[in-house]
Amino acid sequence: MKGTVLHGPRDVRFEAVEVPSILKPTDAIIRVAATCVCGSDLWPYRGHWPTPEPVRMGHEYCGTVVEVGDAVTKVKPGQFVIGSFFSSDMTCPICLSGYPSSCVDREQVGAAQAGMMRVPLADGTLVATPGTPPAAMIPDLLTLSDVMGTGWFAAEAAEVAPGKTVVVVGDGAVGLLAVLSAKLKDAGRIIVMSRHEPRQNLARAFGATDVVEERGDAAVARVKEMTGGLGADSVLECVGTQEAMMQAIRSCRRGGHVSFVGVPHEVKIDGQELFFSHVHLHGGPAPVRRYLPELIDRVWNGEIHPGKVFDLELPIEDVAEGYRAMDERRAIKVLLRP
Ligand SMILES: [Zn+2]
Repeated sequence: MKGTVLHGPRDVRFEAVEVPSILKPTDAIIRVAATCVCGSDLWPYRGHWPTPEPVRMGHEYCGTVVEVGDAVTKVKPGQFVIGSFFSSDMTCPICLSGYPSSCVDREQVGAAQAGMMRVPLADGTLVATPGTPPAAMIPDLLTLSDVMGTGWFAAEAAEVAPGKTVVVVGDGAVGLLAVLSAKLKDAGRIIVMSRHEPRQNLARAFGATDVVEERGDAAVARVKEMTGGLGADSVLECVGTQEAMMQAIRSCRRGGHVSFVGVPHEVKIDGQELFFSHVHLHGGPAPVRRYLPELIDRVWNGEIHPGKVFDLELPIEDVAEGYRAMDERRAIKVLLRP
């Protein structure tokens, strides 16, 4: 079997790897139908997270169960399933409180950019679709493994509600699906910060009403201008940089809600500025598993097509080209088919 391995900065190879097997009785093995390259994969790819040893890549997946461990009772071979990037038992107090991505028993689910993969805590982690999906639905379902669930969490954590004015910082796949999520929650006005025309167009298709091309303080000034000098009710930070975080906090009105779902890199927030900003701040690794049943329903019914964020599809053998295309921003998000 072959899988995706990162050997060092910008050195991704599709090469021989060990065939996954049941290591714990709660594991499942799935045959991957589709996987993809995540914005967060680009951090180690660019050398920002040093990887002294070669590492297996990929944490977004959907596919068919081929084998389960002895303790697995709900998930069965033959089912088409989707899971999150963290495994979760769905029984611990943290899972029950709605945060399965911080499950006390969680393991990172990795090595998804391959033909087969192991999923820990299968009964809690995986959700089966009502049946075998048609091929055309697979990109939509794949987004539920991470980016759509993360965009949805961005909207929930920033308390997007009917009629509210929403700002989305970031036009990557998560930002675009945060726009779609805000639309599904009936936001009144959805302002997306983007300076790339194809991404602006997709944001508009997903429900954005306004585009702000400025950055930093100029972007904040634009949002203030559009909101009677006050700032937006809900601001969704979907990038993870210092500039994006401050743009988000400063674009929010006093007493408004800011969510942050991009993995932060060297982000520092001044305590006094945060104090006087008077915003609610809520973020973290999205509890994607919590949203799977509802979002699977919405895809299954044909209500939403989050898979439109995939603008490049490659056979998984060409995974290195997929990373290059995302690194160079030639592609929003790359779907890989084993
Ligand atoms: Zn748990």
